[in-house]
Amino acid sequence: MDELLLFSSAPNTSLKQAFQSLDELKLTTLFPVSILGRGFTYYYEDWIENLLIKQEHIQATVSGNAVYSIQIQQKGGNLYGSCDCPFEGKCKHMAAVMISALHQIQAKP
Ligand SMILES: [Zn+2]
Repeated sequence: MDELLLFSSAPNTSLKQAFQSLDELKLTTLFPVSILGRGFTYYYEDWIENLLIKQEHIQATVSGNAVYSIQIQQKGGNLYGSCDCPFEGKCKHMAAVMISALHQIQAKP
């Protein structure tokens, strides 16, 4: 699985700080609109499962036509995503997990 750069911030930014600096509007600059739209559908239809947010790593599974596994890794202020679906590039599953993690992290100060 390729790791794709999803979000860049200052080198010493933690994963949670990176998400605190994001909002739904900023997500529109990180994903193509059609991909992000599908991600929101997955989020609102509650298809993201097993969301686990750790200090430098997020993992989740997303159900749709099949179940896919998504990893988001924080390295030096950047967030990298990977997903085991066949889509090449930033996919709707990564978008869905970003949206879900954003809501979860911002709900807990
Ligand atoms: Zn995917």
